[in-house]
Amino acid sequence: MNILKNKNIFSNFEGTSSQIACIKKFFGERIIDTFIHFPINIKAKNLKKIIENDDIDKFVTIDLIIVKHQKPFNKKSPYKVSTKTSLGQKINILYFGGYKNFYTKKLLLNEKYRITGKIQFFGNNFQFIHPKEILNSKDLIKFENIEPEYNLSRTKINNKFFRKFILKNIEILNSYKFPNEWINDKYLEKNKWLNFKKALLKIHNPLKLLNKNESESIRKRLAYDEILSNFLIFNSFRQNIKENKIKIKNFSLSENIKKKIPFKLTPDQNKTLEEINNDLTSKKKMYRLIQGDVGSGKTIISLLAISDMINSGYQCVLMAPTELLAKQHYEYFFEYFNSFNINIALLTSKIKNKSQIIKGINNSTIKLLIGTHAVYNKELNFNNLGLVIIDEQHKFGVNQRTNLLEKSSNCHTLIMSATPIPRSLSFALYGEIDVSTIKSKPQGRNKVTTSIISNNQLKNLIQGIDRKIMNNEQVFWVLPHIGDSENEDKKGTVITRYNFLKKIFDNKVGIIHGKMSNEEIDKNMDEFKKKKKMILISTTVIEVGINIPSATLIVIEEANRFGLAQLHQLRGRIARSSLPSNCVLLHDHNLSENAVKRLLILKNSNDGFKIAEKDLELRGAGDFFGTNQSGMPRWRFFRHYEDLKMLEEIKKNCNQLLLDKRKNKDIIDFLVKVFYGKKKIINYSSV
Ligand code: ADP
Ligand code: MG
Repeated sequence: MNILKNKNIFSNFEGTSSQIACIKKFFGERIIDTFIHFPINIKAKNLKKIIENDDIDKFVTIDLIIVKHQKPFNKKSPYKVSTKTSLGQKINILYFGGYKNFYTKKLLLNEKYRITGKIQFFGNNFQFIHPKEILNSKDLIKFENIEPEYNLSRTKINNKFFRKFILKNIEILNSYKFPNEWINDKYLEKNKWLNFKKALLKIHNPLKLLNKNESESIRKRLAYDEILSNFLIFNSFRQNIKENKIKIKNFSLSENIKKKIPFKLTPDQNKTLEEINNDLTSKKKMYRLIQGDVGSGKTIISLLAISDMINSGYQCVLMAPTELLAKQHYEYFFEYFNSFNINIALLTSKIKNKSQIIKGINNSTIKLLIGTHAVYNKELNFNNLGLVIIDEQHKFGVNQRTNLLEKSSNCHTLIMSATPIPRSLSFALYGEIDVSTIKSKPQGRNKVTTSIISNNQLKNLIQGIDRKIMNNEQVFWVLPHIGDSENEDKKGTVITRYNFLKKIFDNKVGIIHGKMSNEEIDKNMDEFKKKKKMILISTTVIEVGINIPSATLIVIEEANRFGLAQLHQLRGRIARSSLPSNCVLLHDHNLSENAVKRLLILKNSNDGFKIAEKDLELRGAGDFFGTNQSGMPRWRFFRHYEDLKMLEEIKKNCNQLLLDKRKNKDIIDFLVKVFYGKKKIINYSSV
């Protein structure tokens, strides 16, 4: 059986249809998909011959003979099964609630069963209440003394069932013919790694408990393979790029636009634009990443490049991760492009005149499409797509990145990101990509003053806000949770904070969060832009890209809950003008020492690259990318920092494999299918 294919792996497998449906839904229909789901823990069962006082409240396993069934006396009393061990010790099994027939059938008189459960003591006897596992003598071969436990939360699958599934397929995995080892012997030996198959077998079928080093070594081996598969995907794209015929013919439009821009480009902006223009006039296809800290002015660069592409007869796409940001970009571009009669459109999943936009794209009357990932709409057929730009790229997952590359496989690609990542990691994320860096900030920007204050200084803060508003300056106030109005707890939520501040600042307070409709968000954002509201309470929906120059204060409540990268992004919402700006990190008083250290990093630096570096030093304590909304893609096995050192080696390995694609086809196919087989990946190894 092929572990990589959707074969009917559920035939002759005992399980209810809903259990099987759950496995299909969460893991897919390939055997490998369940095997790359690793146990979070491996537990040893405690097989006993006799129960002692020490065992109370612990999980034990013991063989018991059923002596008697005793029905409950009333509704509240339990169904009781009396048993004894081979040594004659009496142990009771209790069940609360109905089902008595079920138990009489399951636990037959005078039969022996192996029972696992938590031991309790009541009256004069030891007892199990609702034991966790019951095996009859026929099933005893299935008993595992060492049992891996899986994280199955939200899957509706229980560990026992998942385990059964894994065990059933272990033989198939074992007999599958894997490609030859792809990691070189020396490196394997140095790290004492197992091969791919043995690593999987050992973690899912451990014959003894694994110590931390053993399980970590298995994880690392798989992390290597996972990243290698990424390298292979993205670098194959790169190699597939053929000669470029899409070129900018002249720069007259961008020159004209430059005359309208109310500022001068910074040296780094000029340099970046030059690099882009070189790409767009050369023989090679552009595949470039602009890395520039928040507020460094990436948008205008993309605007200028887009203008010349359009003026040379091509269509362009600009993709942003949120609706808010897409809309803001639309407005920014409209302002410049409208006066040059360039027709642009906004497409998000919620936009109503979709068919009109699709028509406009298909007949080339729309020159620039700005949107969220809705721009992947299959009905969109660009006539002559020349350039695809993705803003704040780090927010998109592998799937979306490959989708994009697919869409733009015939045209130029520009990626813009404010997340500083090490060079080696950018290879894993994008393949061989050229990088332009914007380090210098626009002139005349005042630095943000960041302060860390505790909740009991709220009064002073309110006074500060009052002064800002008197000065006609605006305020963002960000909280991690939305909350709801009925359920007001003590912790501040967007809703409770809104209600609180409204009592003080009346109708000057606005609110936006993810549970609102798009219309509401638009309306409230609009009121804030027009200064009808002076304070905007929100969740992190404003995190990326939002540009409101007269906002000069951002308050971030429960700041310690955010990753440093995210806090830096949020802080990037202010200091977008020459006015002095403040960022206030609010926390409740009992911050841990590490949390304080992390916030201090932010207080002491305004440079995203430096913050990332410092955070790296604090590693173990802080995590630049935060835990979930990190902005980095989520890997199954790979860990950004611990595994960074492997990247060079993986890159070498990738290049070696790609040198002779035909010879290494088995390996390349295998790796890509294992980690990305469920997703549709374009024909990465066809060339
Ligand atoms: P980011 O790099 O974070 O995407 P933006 O492109 O949103 O930053 O730019 C932030 C603000 O700075 C915008 O209002 C933009 O018009 C302005 N800006 C961009 N370049 C310059 C510059 N060279 N001088 C002054 N302001 C600039
Ligand atoms: Mg931006």
